Amino acid sequence: MTAEMEGALQAAGEENKKKKRKAADRALVMLSGGLDSATCLYWARSRNYETSAITFNYFGRLEKEKQAARLVAEKAGVHVTEVDLSFMKEAADFRGGDNNGSSSSSSNNNNNRDGRWDSYVPARNMIFYSIAAHYAEYAGVRWIVGGHNSHDVSFFKDASRGYIEKLNALFREGCLLCDGNNGAGAGTGRLQEPYQIVLPLADLDRKGVVELALELGVPIGQTWSCHGDGGSHCGRCYACVQRLKAFASLGLQDPVFPRGRA
Ligand SMILES: [Zn+2]
Repeated sequence: MTAEMEGALQAAGEENKKKKRKAADRALVMLSGGLDSATCLYWARSRNYETSAITFNYFGRLEKEKQAARLVAEKAGVHVTEVDLSFMKEAADFRGGDNNGSSSSSSNNNNNRDGRWDSYVPARNMIFYSIAAHYAEYAGVRWIVGGHNSHDVSFFKDASRGYIEKLNALFREGCLLCDGNNGAGAGTGRLQEPYQIVLPLADLDRKGVVELALELGVPIGQTWSCHGDGGSHCGRCYACVQRLKAFASLGLQDPVFPRGRA
């Protein structure tokens, strides 16, 4: 074989590899409708991933939050898959013991110093990411994008880097439709490598997330973070207070709050 032919073959091989890499660049964003996950959606788009979203309708999930997820996805022009998980309850609802579908975010529990205990769900991320993995494998998704910021990963153990790395190791081990297997015809044949969870906000505090959201053009006014189901953000619950602080630290007005509150 001449050097010229070898060169041509090598170039064709490189081109083929590039095509394969490009074909694998699909992202599935875990979308709640809050600022963090909306930022992840726009982050994935900014990386030119072929992006879709998934959202989980657990017990008592606020209608406002569901609407926000739909609106943000619509604005971004991505499809969102809604998964019914009505058996899954947040700790406040579990303790409340009522099964009438109402959501209780207030609690007298002494451990509930900042509201995060109320929103805790046992094994939440193992369940959410496992479901996302199921969709990802059939859809040829390479990246499952999670919107945990640095505060989340330090408090919620199932969002920590170590926990997520263990899930990624399990996905690498269990994915049969990836790599050379190509699923005996069952899959799309797009995945050269197993899908993995990425956490683009894991090093950012809330102020950093707001800055990134602004940079990426996230429709911040469409997001929903409040634990209450009022017509607008209450400004008093844990999530609202954190948003207010983050925007105030940048000298900005958060568009979800009525004027004058920040
Ligand atoms: Zn609120």
